[in-house]
Amino acid sequence: MKILVTGGAGFIGSHLCKQLLNEGHEVLCLDNYFTGSKGNIVHLMDHPYFELIRHDITAPYFAEVDQIYNLACPASPVHYQYNPIKTIKTSVMGAINTLGLAKRVKARILQASTSEVYGDPSVHPQPESYWGNVNPIGIRSCYDEGKRCAETLFMDYHHQNNVDIRIIRIFNTYGPNMNPNDGRVVSNFIVQALQNKPITIFGEGLQTRSFQYVDDLVAGMKNMMSVDGFVGPVNLGNPDEFTMLELAQNIIDITNSSSKLEFLPLPQDDPQQRKPDISLAKEKLKWEPKVPLSEGLVKTIDYFDKIL
Ligand code: NAD
Ligand code: UDP
Repeated sequence: MKILVTGGAGFIGSHLCKQLLNEGHEVLCLDNYFTGSKGNIVHLMDHPYFELIRHDITAPYFAEVDQIYNLACPASPVHYQYNPIKTIKTSVMGAINTLGLAKRVKARILQASTSEVYGDPSVHPQPESYWGNVNPIGIRSCYDEGKRCAETLFMDYHHQNNVDIRIIRIFNTYGPNMNPNDGRVVSNFIVQALQNKPITIFGEGLQTRSFQYVDDLVAGMKNMMSVDGFVGPVNLGNPDEFTMLELAQNIIDITNSSSKLEFLPLPQDDPQQRKPDISLAKEKLKWEPKVPLSEGLVKTIDYFDKIL
């Protein structure tokens, strides 16, 4: 198949492009390099079935493709809050443009949605049926509400125009190819630990997240694109839940670092807890994550050790 991956030069996109090429597909990787980089996909450049397109998804893009994975959007709070108007435009106009393309060429299209649609959840763990607790006017809203609106657009194009959609809600994902300046917690803590600098804990560090290794996510994304009769939304995440203090300690132990903990203020609207209910993914996709945090961290630390 000929497959378009928007945001293909980013962290998750680069892994997905590689996997799809390995399976014999032709891949069009579209990116504006806001948070992604050519470095993530340089090893794919010589592949005869790989094409790199510099394009901003807030503008329409035309191509003949069989499938679309819509990943274009900054994912780290530091980056999506840098230009909030651009972030929400990327989610909303990006959805409209890629859905318009999917409609025209009759391509199956997957939206990379997020656990952030649940906001600071009052239901724990979060099933897909939970509608969320999102502040519409806070510093995270450009991302959360943009992704919620994109889900609405996907569903509306599906019902109104019969577009063959898929929606996945991705929970915190980590692995090689994360940008060292990304600002997300796993990359921050690893870089700090490897450099023996203070580990920056926001708040008391008792907030929780559930961390998924990128290979597990890519497997789930491909399953979602290959099943018939199920559009989602479906949670893709690892249900093992950790506090930020536990994550920091894990990383200090693996890196044998002399870093000390530094406590900084908790950012506004920071969700207190997050853990996916993955019953639906197990049932519909026969999928569940395989890589435990300890194993995924070792691979990720190896990667950062090489590039720093
Ligand atoms: P990333 O920032 O590494 O990748 C995003 C990519 O999109 C980058 O290459 C960036 O340059 C590109 N991009 C941004 N705006 C664009 C635009 N207007 N036009 C074209 N390209 C643009 O982030 P990631 O972690 O790889 O996330 C990929 C997708 O998965 C995002 O949609 C994100 O919201 C979603 N997601 C990620 C996580 C996670 O934990 N990593 C969790 C939930 C959802
Ligand atoms: N966090 C932290 N130190 C950092 C970066 C993040 O303690 O240097 C915390 C952050 O406040 C949040 C959690 O780690 O509670 C996850 O943050 P991240 O930005 O990775 O993802 P998100 O909040 O979007 O889940």
